[in-house]
Amino acid sequence: MNDYTVWRPYCQMKTAPAPIEVIAAEGNTLVTAKHGRLLDGMASWWSACHGHRHPHIVQAIQTQMDKLPHVMFGGITHEGAERLATRLTKIVPGELSHVFFADSGSVAVEVAMKMAMGVARRRGHSQRRRFLAFDHAYHGDTTGAMSLCDPQRSMHRQYSGGILQQFHCPLPRNAQTYEAMRRLLEVNQEQIAGIFVEPLVQGAGGMRFHDPVVLDRIREACDHFGMLMIVDEIATGFARTGTLFAMQQADVDADIVCVGKALTAGTLTMAATLARPEVFDAFWSDDSSDALMHGPTFMANPLACAAANASLDLFESQPRCEQAQVIGETLRRVLAPARCLPGVTDVRTFGAIGVIEMEKETDWTAITGLLLRRGVWLRPFGKLLYTTPPLTLNIDEITQIGEAMVAAITELGSSRSHRTS
Ligand SMILES: *Cc1c(COP(=O)(O)O)cnc(C)c1O
Repeated sequence: MNDYTVWRPYCQMKTAPAPIEVIAAEGNTLVTAKHGRLLDGMASWWSACHGHRHPHIVQAIQTQMDKLPHVMFGGITHEGAERLATRLTKIVPGELSHVFFADSGSVAVEVAMKMAMGVARRRGHSQRRRFLAFDHAYHGDTTGAMSLCDPQRSMHRQYSGGILQQFHCPLPRNAQTYEAMRRLLEVNQEQIAGIFVEPLVQGAGGMRFHDPVVLDRIREACDHFGMLMIVDEIATGFARTGTLFAMQQADVDADIVCVGKALTAGTLTMAATLARPEVFDAFWSDDSSDALMHGPTFMANPLACAAANASLDLFESQPRCEQAQVIGETLRRVLAPARCLPGVTDVRTFGAIGVIEMEKETDWTAITGLLLRRGVWLRPFGKLLYTTPPLTLNIDEITQIGEAMVAAITELGSSRSHRTS
C-alpha cells in the first residue's frame, strides 16, 4: 500500500485509471514511461501554444533564472513585468491600459470581480455586488469564480448553497434570449455590477461555440444598464480561435479582460486582469482603504514574465493565427466521418478546437486507452471528446489526432455491439 496519496484533479480516484507518467516533453509530443511518445492533443490544457520546450522560451527562462527567478511585487518592480504590461496593453483589443498580474486564471477572475465591485461602489451603487454569467459558463475553481459557473450543470454544483449566488441566463443568441437577458437585468439591475462572458467559445462548461453578435448584444446591455463587461479570454486568448483574441471577431470593447492559460506558452503559472482607465480610477483616491487589496505571493513572477515576453515574440514572428485556422480546417475534414457513428450527436470545429459530442457520458477509460495505442493524448470529459492542440502541429500530426478520435469512437461502438450480440 502507498503511504501517501497525490490527490488528482477532477478525478473520482476510486474508479479512475492510474495517471500516465510523463518524463519529458518536446515540441508537440509528450515522452511517457509506458506509452512511448504521445502527441499532446490538449496542449496541456490549452497552454502549450508553441509546443513544449520551444528553444526561444527555454532560453528566456534560463537567462532570467540566472538573474532574478523571483522577487515580491509589493513595493518592487522589474523590467520583465513592465515590458509585459506594455505589450499586453498593445495587443489586447480595446483601451485596456491597466494590468494586474495574477498567478492563475481563477485568481484573475476573482480580481476582475473585485474591480467591478469597486467601480460600482465608486459610482454610488455599493449594493451592486453580484454578477450575471451564462448557462454552461466556466470561469474557474476558486469560490468566487465557481459562483460564475453554470450552477446546475457545472462540476461545482455540489457546493451550491456554500458559494455566492449569482445570476445566470442563456447566452443571448437570438431575439428571444436577448429579451430574457434584458428582463433579468431590468429586474435585478440594482444588484449587478457586471456581466462575465467567455468570448465565442464556452470551454470547460461544454465546448460550445457562439456567434460574435452575442458579444455585441452583451455590450449593448452593459451600456444600457451601466454594468461592466468582463471578457474571460483565459481559454480563447493567444490565437486559439484563429485571431489573437476571440473578441477581435466581434466589434466590441470590454471593460475588463482576463488572460491566462497560454500566456506563458505552457511553462509557468501566470494570468492577468486588464482594465480600462475608468476601472482603475475607481480605486484612485487619497484614502488608502479605497485601494485594490489583492496581491498573490508569486504575482508577476519574473520567470513567468520572461516566458510570456518570449511567447509574445513568437506570436509576432510566427503565423500562429493562420496555423490555428489550418488546424480547424483539417480537423473539420478529418472528424466529419464521426457524424455517422452511433452515439455521436454533434461534431464541431472552431479555430484550433475540434469536438465530438456524444449522446451520453461514454467509457472514457476505454477511449483513452484506444487513443494511447495510436500515440495520442486526450482527456475527454462529460459527453465530449475534444482536442485543443499546440498551434505548431503539422498536417500529419493534426490528421493523426483527428483520425485517432474517429477510430476510438468507432472501435468503442463496435466492441459494444459485439458484446451485446
Ligand atoms: C481554465 C479557465 C479558467 C481558470 O484558470 P486556472 O488557471 O485553471 O485557474 C478560467 N476561465 C476559463 C475560461 C478557463 O478556461
